[in-house]
Amino acid sequence: MTTTQSETFTVRRAAAGSAGESAPSQLPLPPGGHFIAGSFVPGASFQTIDVMNPATEEVIASVLAGTAADVDTAVAAAVEAQKTWGSTTPKQRADVLNLIANIIEANRETFEVIESANTGKPRTVAEDDVTSTIDTFRFMAGASRTLTSMAGGDYATGHTSVILREPVGVVGVITPWNYPLLMAAWKIAPILAAGNSIVMKPSEQTPLSTLKLAEVLAGRIPDGILNVVTGQGRTVGQRLSEHPSVALVALTGSVASGQSVAETAARSVKRVHLELGGKAPVVVFPDADLAAAAAGVRNAGYWNAGQDCGAACRVLVHESVAEEFTQHLVREVGTLVVGSPDAGDDVEIGPMISRPHFERVKESLAEAREAGLTVAIGGSAVEGTGFFIEPTVITNVPAGAPIATHEIFGPVVTVETFSSTDEAVTRANESPYGLSASVWTKDSSLSLRVPKQLDFGTVWVNAHLVLACEVPWGGFKGSGYGRDLSLYALDDYSRTKHVMINHGA
Ligand code: NAD
Repeated sequence: MTTTQSETFTVRRAAAGSAGESAPSQLPLPPGGHFIAGSFVPGASFQTIDVMNPATEEVIASVLAGTAADVDTAVAAAVEAQKTWGSTTPKQRADVLNLIANIIEANRETFEVIESANTGKPRTVAEDDVTSTIDTFRFMAGASRTLTSMAGGDYATGHTSVILREPVGVVGVITPWNYPLLMAAWKIAPILAAGNSIVMKPSEQTPLSTLKLAEVLAGRIPDGILNVVTGQGRTVGQRLSEHPSVALVALTGSVASGQSVAETAARSVKRVHLELGGKAPVVVFPDADLAAAAAGVRNAGYWNAGQDCGAACRVLVHESVAEEFTQHLVREVGTLVVGSPDAGDDVEIGPMISRPHFERVKESLAEAREAGLTVAIGGSAVEGTGFFIEPTVITNVPAGAPIATHEIFGPVVTVETFSSTDEAVTRANESPYGLSASVWTKDSSLSLRVPKQLDFGTVWVNAHLVLACEVPWGGFKGSGYGRDLSLYALDDYSRTKHVMINHGA
């Protein structure tokens, strides 16, 4: 496979001598070690994993490669802590969640610096991640105090039924690298709010913000309710999925990892919560505001360099407006600024997370070229240090083309055309994924009818990638099951018990 080097985009880098905050020696790194029962502890093995800054390719830290024995120690701590935590009142739990939000807010600069250094993401994205993290804890603090369920009452003569909502116990959490802190918050907040304790494994590529969270919370929240074991999926993640004292395992990651976790968890009939990949269609009808749709794709297709499970990456546009829409889109994409996080607040596109991922994205681009697809803008790696890919638009994409069906997870948007509403719906649904989609139209009938026909857990109309803590996030089909955010997440991390009292009347 060959890929040409970019001539359209260059990587903006910090001026020499001004990249102080992301220099490895300046980073506010967390302590090494696993975080178990409120303290950082050594692991059962001395093996470590290097952690890299993908914008500079420098190793910035190393963390322990955890073992099954480390998971077992952490689970024992979580089991012990959950006994007390599970019997606290909603208000007591909400106080802890609000405290967590306040502590993160007080350290927000530290989290932004660490997140950008470990992922290469622009500071604006890191800032948004931290803001959303804080809001997630605040929302779950309030939501946990307002739970409702079926009314108690006599549903069998002489018997009064009461429905109790209980914690499930210890929850194993496995998170990805694209939004390390935010994806941790989406799990930690509802899981703790529902009265469970946690053993979590951050991505081996991006463990630093999760370890920093543990550091700033140490001694401020009850010991053992949140434990962190670093390491690989096939060891630490695998042990979490099989451990008999873990009641539920929640993973955000790829389909393959979800399948592996679900298979392992099935042996102990463990509950599973899976937020997996996506390939979001963006259906643009002929009456849509094409400039607004293109601006929406500029934001939602390239946010976090397209490394987003809900990215607006697969446009399906009506053939009568395809050319005009594409012109808008290419113009929008041409204004994106590629660079390292310390190169200015206007940088919008950072690097791919790792060399293997960078190579995979390049391979997809090379395949598209070989298939004769049109690269309207971008289409190449950007020369120099770091794993940067040009913001890319590929047009002339036929139905079923591999580039439009598999998740690329990079700054690459494809454009297909359709000729009827039925065809648009059928083609949009012809995807192994079912996480999110958007519909762009001014027709009120289409804006109600088409979302109902689309097989995706979130469907936006005249918007894409707008999230709020009050509303659920999660997929259908290959994108998994279970919901993050909203009251639905609290349900997912609770169990329902029916108590029926025979009062003999
Ligand atoms: P990944 O599946 O490679 O890794 C995710 C986590 O799973 C990591 O912590 C990894 O160590 C662990 N893991 C890997 N194999 C495992 C196994 N066999 N058992 C247990 N744990 C295992 O995914 P990634 O590359 O870090 O993240 C990108 C993927 O995550 C994309 O597919 C993306 O769409 C998805 N994602 C989904 C959402 C969502 O909300 N649906 C959000 C973010 C990312």
